[in-house]
Amino acid sequence: MSSSTEKKTAPEPPKVSNFLRQIIDHDLAAGTYATRRWAGTPGDAAHHAAGQPDPAKIRTRFPPEPNGYLHIGHAKSICINFGLARDYGGVCHLRFDDTNPEKEDTEYVNSIIDSVKWLGFDWNGSPDAAPYQASDYFGFMYRAAEYLIEAGRAYVDEQTPEQMRANRGDFGKPGVDSPFRARTPAENLARFREMRDGAHEDGSMVLRAKIAMDSPNINMRDPAIYRIRRATHHNTGDTWCIYPMYTFAHPIEDALEQITHSICTLEFEDQRPFYDWLMERLIEGGLLSAPPPKQYEFARLNLTYVITSKRKLAQLVYDHKVQGWDDPRMPTIVGLRRRGYTPESLQLFAERIGVTKSDSWIDYSTLEGCLRETLDGNAPRAMAVLDPIKLVIENWDEVMGVGKGAGEDGSVLDDCTAPVHPHHPELGKRQFKMGKEVWIERSDYEEVPSKGFFRLFPGNKVRLKYGHVIECLGATKNEAGEKTAIRASLIPDTKSGTPGSDSVKVKGVITWVGVNDGVQAEVRLYDRLFTDAQPDAGGKDFIESLNPNSLKVITAFVEPSLATCSADDKFQFERHGYFVADRVDHAAGKLVFNLAVGLKDSWGK
Ligand code: ATP
Ligand code: MG
Repeated sequence: MSSSTEKKTAPEPPKVSNFLRQIIDHDLAAGTYATRRWAGTPGDAAHHAAGQPDPAKIRTRFPPEPNGYLHIGHAKSICINFGLARDYGGVCHLRFDDTNPEKEDTEYVNSIIDSVKWLGFDWNGSPDAAPYQASDYFGFMYRAAEYLIEAGRAYVDEQTPEQMRANRGDFGKPGVDSPFRARTPAENLARFREMRDGAHEDGSMVLRAKIAMDSPNINMRDPAIYRIRRATHHNTGDTWCIYPMYTFAHPIEDALEQITHSICTLEFEDQRPFYDWLMERLIEGGLLSAPPPKQYEFARLNLTYVITSKRKLAQLVYDHKVQGWDDPRMPTIVGLRRRGYTPESLQLFAERIGVTKSDSWIDYSTLEGCLRETLDGNAPRAMAVLDPIKLVIENWDEVMGVGKGAGEDGSVLDDCTAPVHPHHPELGKRQFKMGKEVWIERSDYEEVPSKGFFRLFPGNKVRLKYGHVIECLGATKNEAGEKTAIRASLIPDTKSGTPGSDSVKVKGVITWVGVNDGVQAEVRLYDRLFTDAQPDAGGKDFIESLNPNSLKVITAFVEPSLATCSADDKFQFERHGYFVADRVDHAAGKLVFNLAVGLKDSWGK
């Protein structure tokens, strides 16, 4: 059995159009944003009016909330937003949507920065620009709220949360006006300032936009835009005890940053009318410059056997179901990276799944296929034996000569070479030695061969890859009848690459590692984290479908070329799959490899 998996790396696919590209093509052709100005930093209408015509043709943004580590779904969003900016001569902003003081942390901020960089993108127009932070706009947001109050477009509501919920109505039932809805702007302004100054309890009142309690869209029934919350914010400390609601903050963040296309996932579709309403009001009031950003929604990524919710991933970490955010089984970007995923493989995945407006599930094998494809063309090859048993070549000394070799017992060691990569001779050759004893896979021997088994069984000949042909003589067993070694004899003059070496025809080729120069390694074999293809769909408890066999740690032998590899180096272990030197635990003298992906899609087969 030889490794016949070498495939040419797929050529870069042409950029496929999608509905977002069509919108941008149209906007560029129509000059929708041609009059925009940009003052070099985010700001209000006056700030940008004093700036230059915006050199960026479009502005997009990736706005994570720093309340967890980014996952594969965010990678899709990153590739869309940064990819569009790159392809259209625009700029993509990295902005921390940190308007919620309680759940956010600088640990997450730093990991998000690292992940976006690692994926290959820089932001805000230069490789060392600082990310934007929504919390830097709290001052403007407060001013915008006061403006809405003065314009009669917002009021302070002192109903209890229960009353508010009851009076909001529902799908078939219009809402009921709050008794506080008719307050004068002066009265609202006084109350709102008291809220800001800490005169009222958390939750005792909120500021609401005054729109229409009978709107068919419940999001337009006077949504809350500011709440009282005494919490220390990781950026602004205790400056504020009132915080803007996401629906109010987000459009403002986009507008201050002169975003043109604000791309989000479908669950925000119902928020779009409020987004537009708010933009119109603040442009009317001269606070923001026209034209406003526009929101567009795409389908979020759903990947089989994977959960993509920061909250649920946090639960796996804090309940010790995995070993951390960067556990190689996690769909976080740090986990995927440690598993052996490359930026190219994730970008290819994002291209391949495309952008659509309807929800669907992507098969996990699509992601694995992208990794396989991107590694195949350049990962060095190596031999490794994952489930080792010794093969003893009984006539070795007889054939090779005795007492003059470099083996521990003076036996001869035979130099073997193999290409680092079968399609890249320029990468050179690997060197290793065959001796009297080599490690082979336990499964490469069957005492009574099953149908179609061409490897080792008594009387059968196989080639030790890059070495000689051997004939199997059977197995040595202990008293319990367990195999302790496989016996073989070497057929002279069959060394791979020497004249006449193929005079003996064999049906099987097996991989091996020399006992003399093989290096011990810890190998971590990973499998899917869940046994259910949709672990959290329909409110299912995803903890129940955790795969108990998602990690198997074994001791393997690998060829000596791997002894000096570095963390993050990736290899194809011939016949087995793609492996990466673990970026956390691998070190010289303690080799640790993670299974990134098998050679073929074998899941469920
Ligand atoms: P989570 O539920 O995991 O916390 P989120 O949507 O709240 O996700 P944010 O940090 O607010 O996470 O999201 C940053 C950006 O990433 C948003 O624009 C969001 O739409 C996008 N995003 C998040 N999850 C996915 C996904 N599964 N597929 C595509 N885009 C996603
Ligand atoms: Mg969120």
